[in-house]
Amino acid sequence: MKNIRLSELPHESVSSELRGHVANPRVSGTFLLIGEDALPYAYAFARALLCESPIDGDACGTCSTCRKTNKILHPDLVWIVPSGKVQATKEEKEMKGLEGRALVMNKWVTAFRKNPFIRYEDWASELKVKNINLPVADLRYAIEQIQTRQYEAQRKVVIIWGADMMGTGGNIMLKTLEEPPANRFIILVARNKSSILPTIRSRSIIITLPPLSENQLITFLSSQMRVSTEEVVTVAEWGRGSVSLTLSLIKENSRLAKGRATELWNIIHQKGPEWQTWINSSTDKVDSISTTKEIVKWILSIVDPQFAHLGHKHIQVLSQPPALKEIMTLVEDALYSLNRNVNPKLTLHYLLNRLHEVYKKYVDN
Ligand SMILES: [Zn+2]
Repeated sequence: MKNIRLSELPHESVSSELRGHVANPRVSGTFLLIGEDALPYAYAFARALLCESPIDGDACGTCSTCRKTNKILHPDLVWIVPSGKVQATKEEKEMKGLEGRALVMNKWVTAFRKNPFIRYEDWASELKVKNINLPVADLRYAIEQIQTRQYEAQRKVVIIWGADMMGTGGNIMLKTLEEPPANRFIILVARNKSSILPTIRSRSIIITLPPLSENQLITFLSSQMRVSTEEVVTVAEWGRGSVSLTLSLIKENSRLAKGRATELWNIIHQKGPEWQTWINSSTDKVDSISTTKEIVKWILSIVDPQFAHLGHKHIQVLSQPPALKEIMTLVEDALYSLNRNVNPKLTLHYLLNRLHEVYKKYVDN
């Protein structure tokens, strides 16, 4: 997703409320956006506030400020994000001379661009740290920034992501939150309302994101994030109507399916009666049609000629035309059956037996 604007985000009521605030701007203010998906709204709202010629309260997307905010960093858009004991890579340290806040911001731009619906957990793993937090020093930096005049735009916006983590440290911000100087805005972003001090809540305009319906999720994720309907439906029950949670579940699901597919290929290598037992116990673990489809697709991707050269030499043999063609036909047949609701265990069992034959034919000889 590039050039993120309020009108393109899925919670229409929230977008229109925020656009109302841009169209009829107050002099300054503190907003508190709450919800799993609140982060991209904070960013799109900030872009609209900074835009030189907003359209119906939304960023125009084309003015020189919008072009800059599209790159995430702009001198008048200040990000405060949680961090931890972050280590710079050799390149970051030696080539780019990055450390401290600059290092975190450099990683942040990459991570946020990759996924504007990033969760705390994803960010911690991007930073390669166990725990992330929002130290008081960062809050002091936020205060300092809000007191300093803007450089280029007509306004200045400070986004504090992870306001849940401020704890009582947030008390040092009360005066600033109460009344930021003219043309300066603070956007606090939190997952839950309950973790925010009442003294902070009372000083903010609170906007809570309601959960999306399954259809809204499907429409948004398929049009904007290249996710298939099927992938959304598989995890919808646990996604709680949140884009970020659904995306993270899909990623996890696909990681698990890949693991299972690799395991199955290893099983195909096995010979003798032991092998049949392996297949039985392995297919026993499979239950849903959608998970089986994921596994079947991964089985095919393992012999994809583009990547197979990275694999075992047997996999390389199977990624050559005659064997590959047979495998592709078997996989297509399996997907065809699964699309017609044939029992997933039976389908996978059949597929694995046939794949074992292909293996024997091309590799064992
Ligand atoms: Zn603009």
